[in-house]
Amino acid sequence: MSPPHADPLPGSADLDPVPSTRRAERRGLFRSLERIYAELPTTVCESCARCCFESPGVFYVEYLYLLDSIGAYAEGHREDIARRAFGELLFSWVEPDRTCIFLQSRRCAIYERRPLACRLFGLVPALERERAEAEARLAARQQARRLRQFGIEVPEAVVRRSLASCDKVTDAAGRDVTVDGEAYAARVARLDAALLPKQTVIEEFCFHSLPERLAYAAFGADAVEGMRTQLLRRAQAGATAEQLVSLVLRQARLPTPFKTRGSRACGT
Ligand code: SF4
Ligand code: SF4
Repeated sequence: MSPPHADPLPGSADLDPVPSTRRAERRGLFRSLERIYAELPTTVCESCARCCFESPGVFYVEYLYLLDSIGAYAEGHREDIARRAFGELLFSWVEPDRTCIFLQSRRCAIYERRPLACRLFGLVPALERERAEAEARLAARQQARRLRQFGIEVPEAVVRRSLASCDKVTDAAGRDVTVDGEAYAARVARLDAALLPKQTVIEEFCFHSLPERLAYAAFGADAVEGMRTQLLRRAQAGATAEQLVSLVLRQARLPTPFKTRGSRACGT
């Protein structure tokens, strides 16, 4: 039996981020991304951080934009991010109580560079939110069924944890505010199209989180799903999370920003 093969990342998995980052800079894609972010309305909310319950999906250009800033962090901090990323990668399939790797003391450590998915949270109309939530739950249930075939039990709490909605977001005057999330997403996808083949852009969209993209870059897309399954079985047999994450980190060929020296602290 072959390992479960959920949402493979075609084409871009093995891309070295350095040439792509240079291309993105040359073509002004990061500036375009910042302009799109800046067009979103200013909002307030209760800052409860419930929406940071997992690392969000990021477009490829957003992944490069994040790597670009991570490269400037202190070495220990980069290692910490990689450790959290692989911890999430390995255990998000089975652990209900996890949070985004960038959440620290209920604050976002990359707030200025947080991806579109985070910026849109609570801003999309109710119908769109409900549809996204239903789709997320269906995908989680299908994933649980698939994993059961490989001897991995997914707790019901994991299937139900998808939180795709929040009605606490308002403009500064306390009024409800909504935006066309799909239109914003399509604009960011167009920036991806300047870096990736069209078919890859369509198939990827923003469905991969930073931990997934890091793993695809470190191990190759085809190897990642099998590796996750194998290591989860070892966890069920008694290996600790720390042992498994250390094992993965020893074998990972991390993208360049994680290897370069920097001096800035995360979030500054
Ligand atoms: S958007 Fe909603 S869930 Fe997220 S921090 Fe604000 S109030 Fe909490
Ligand atoms: S990137 Fe920041 S805002 Fe987005 S889920 Fe993570 S901690 Fe929350």
